[in-house]
Amino acid sequence: MSFLFPRYCHSNLPIADYGDGCYIVDKQGKRYLDGSGGAAVSCLGHSDPQVTEALKQQLDKIAFAHTGFLSSEPAEALAETLIKLAPEGIERVYLVSGGSEAVEASIKLARQYFLEIDQPQRHRVIARQQSYHGNTLGALAAGGNEWRRAQFAPLMVETSHIAPCYEYRGKQDGETTYEFGQRVANELETELLRVGPESVMAFIAEPVVGATSGAVPAVEGYFKRIREICDNYGVLLILDEVMCGMGRTGSLFACEQDGVSPDILTIAKGLGAGYQPIGAMLCSGAIYNAISEGSGFFQHGHTYMGHPMAATAASAVLTAITERDLLSAVNQQGDLLTQKLHEAFDEHPHIGDIRGRGLFRGIELVEDRDSKTPFAKSQQLNKKIKAAAFEAGLICYPMGGTIDGQNGDHILLAPPFIISNTQIDELVEKLSLAIRQSIN
Ligand code: PMP
Repeated sequence: MSFLFPRYCHSNLPIADYGDGCYIVDKQGKRYLDGSGGAAVSCLGHSDPQVTEALKQQLDKIAFAHTGFLSSEPAEALAETLIKLAPEGIERVYLVSGGSEAVEASIKLARQYFLEIDQPQRHRVIARQQSYHGNTLGALAAGGNEWRRAQFAPLMVETSHIAPCYEYRGKQDGETTYEFGQRVANELETELLRVGPESVMAFIAEPVVGATSGAVPAVEGYFKRIREICDNYGVLLILDEVMCGMGRTGSLFACEQDGVSPDILTIAKGLGAGYQPIGAMLCSGAIYNAISEGSGFFQHGHTYMGHPMAATAASAVLTAITERDLLSAVNQQGDLLTQKLHEAFDEHPHIGDIRGRGLFRGIELVEDRDSKTPFAKSQQLNKKIKAAAFEAGLICYPMGGTIDGQNGDHILLAPPFIISNTQIDELVEKLSLAIRQSIN
């Protein structure tokens, strides 16, 4: 309850006092190693002097100017940098305040695009089961996480959900990894044909699934086939990199590793690295041109879009990633983290899978490794692990399976890109302890 409606002065949560690199220190002086960057947010760690200095300087100049009247240097500079770095074909940036806003904007942009090009019949979104794309109604409707959707189902537009590319649970006996990827990608075509391809505007997916499944990357060839199907039926591809983007998987955009470019791309979390709330929707020149040459403006907007302080933080984060060669650090430390996870858990009777890319890693817990049977939801294993890890001074992001009996509890690890070798050891040791204490 306190999480949903924190009565700040009476909350029973510890109070975060200050940040120190990969650690958060509370008012009692207890140090927590931030093993998940909150929820894959704090990619530079806490209290980074380069970012805080940039923010102080901007605050002395101007904190806010409404984009209905004025643009700002930080917003223009950030958009320019993002476009230089973005995947092929991406030419425009729309700055918002977070992930859900970015996804919401992407759905509305897709709809307006089809109106502009005289295809008003296209209104449907296809997404994947177990996915999460945000908590506002449009983004929630796109998501396929039954538990999050259930209460609000009557308020949401109808969306279809195909199987995720979840190799550990989805690959069938006798099937190669590649064949598995093609089979589940082809579900998009089947669904398009079922609902009528001319009624569909977009397919949305995360290149590496974060919160709902614990760092599950698509297998090789999957997104190429998805891109092909979208192109064949004139459907837009929206890639949601709110969690897996901004270097988290070892390349600035996760989709680079899949060899595809989307029509619309959403980013947030690591973009501002927690120093400011910011998200962005990026889109292709074709979409932008259709709107600018048509009605002339995207019928959307929020008061804080393009906020100068948020854009300053994001530019400072991008500068830090480039100047300090942090993508190499993500790859190197990601390999080390994986190696340590394998050393700690390969023989563990209840760790079924270790997966992910870069510093975006997940482990899945199972009651029985051979049958991959998950622990019963009623055991609330993820909650026990979270509490035990927290007690030991480790913040990690455990989640329960979304469909009872079909997928299990998992733990998502997304530490800051500056994590050292000894801090990786500390993370794995504390996590092992928390798991040991939580499974009797
Ligand atoms: N998309 C994805 C893939 C996410 O992981 C999240 C947040 N966990 C969101 C969208 C929503 O972002 P926000 O919480 O910033 O609204």
